[in-house]
Amino acid sequence: MARCRLCRPGERRKPAEIYLPAHRLPLCREHFLYWFERHLERTIRSFRMFTREERILVAVSGGKDSLVLWQALTSLGYPADGVFIDLGIEENTFSLLSQRAAEAMARRLGRPLHLLSLRKELGFGIPELRRKTRKICSLCGAVKRQYLNRAAKRLGYEVLVTGHHLDDEASSLLGNLLQWNLKYLAHKYPVLPAERGFVRKAKPLCRHSGKEIQLYAEIRKLPFLPEGCPLAEEARRPFYAQMMEELEEKTPGTKLRFYLDYLRKAYPLLAAHKEEFMDRELLTCENCGEPAVSSPCLLCRLQEEFRARS
Ligand SMILES: [Zn+2]
Ligand SMILES: [Zn+2]
Repeated sequence: MARCRLCRPGERRKPAEIYLPAHRLPLCREHFLYWFERHLERTIRSFRMFTREERILVAVSGGKDSLVLWQALTSLGYPADGVFIDLGIEENTFSLLSQRAAEAMARRLGRPLHLLSLRKELGFGIPELRRKTRKICSLCGAVKRQYLNRAAKRLGYEVLVTGHHLDDEASSLLGNLLQWNLKYLAHKYPVLPAERGFVRKAKPLCRHSGKEIQLYAEIRKLPFLPEGCPLAEEARRPFYAQMMEELEEKTPGTKLRFYLDYLRKAYPLLAAHKEEFMDRELLTCENCGEPAVSSPCLLCRLQEEFRARS
């Protein structure tokens, strides 16, 4: 069995229980945790995402990605608080179990968790929206993005961080490249600055794969909810993700190279022209004053609609 590369040289090097093919790195369990957090620290610094002096808000869903992010940031000494949105998804009591996972994590870390509820604040939950659309995941995503942006500003945080990881980023990059979706590609960067009513946003796990995150969650025994959302459309995004995994298996490290080379070589060229790729101008919602592509904005329109019904 290979020996851990990070144990001190000499006879006490432990056998490597873990092998990271993309990094050609055999590691013992303790050094895997060490590597994971150092890798995160390097990502945060190299993209200048945030510092330990800033107020950081983690969007916590109760799934493993956001819990791993919250744990690793806290272990590294970043003062990160959590925010959980109750989406009102009752099937299998999904929202309730998710909230319990987020609360268990907050207790474990001794950090504050802000609990917000779509129904209480806006008058509707995600299940109500399903009747309006066949693409519930993208509508839910848009609602969450706008709502989290509002919440982060209202609660006084400088940066909002999410648990998106390398698999998410690489497969959506692939999908958008295949369609030459320049508008999207010109905004695809792991940190976006605060501007025009948007809070700064960062994806610190963008260089960690889903498998690495899963391992970290298991070794640290994090209280994550293993189930996915019961409302998720079947066959959502699996095709590009699967293609990416096949490439990765044949040539380990492809996924990370593909993503990082995009950021280094292509992103600066596209970002320099991002205004030209926009098909709609960014407006300000006449109702709530938030940035939006329409006025009234999505949240105000939905809020109005459900208020009229009740
Ligand atoms: Zn070791
Ligand atoms: Zn609005």
